[in-house]
Amino acid sequence: MSTPTSADLSGDPPVPERPKRSVRLVRSPAEDGIGVICVTLGHRSNYYTIVEIPCQIGGRGFVIHRLGLGTVYHVRVGQPADCECECKGFLYHGYCRHVLGLLALIRQGKL
Ligand SMILES: [Zn+2]
Repeated sequence: MSTPTSADLSGDPPVPERPKRSVRLVRSPAEDGIGVICVTLGHRSNYYTIVEIPCQIGGRGFVIHRLGLGTVYHVRVGQPADCECECKGFLYHGYCRHVLGLLALIRQGKL
């Protein structure tokens, strides 16, 4: 005797796997203030140079520049209310790879 569960009967299509996001510190800014981070989303990796800048309004400020492209973003990270970035992703979603990447590295004690 078997008892079907709701999961067996749902018929929902499998949830597509979300691309894996990770960030790693390629070059520590400890020596001369210039660091390099690598943000990986799925199979794509982007490298960014980061420089911390003084921030008087809460959180920590960074200038982040994607290597090979001209776009420079100013990013602020800290408490949720102190997180902001100039990129379109942040504008639309309220978070972005720059903020998440820097937060992750700070949480790991690498920045
Ligand atoms: Zn951003």
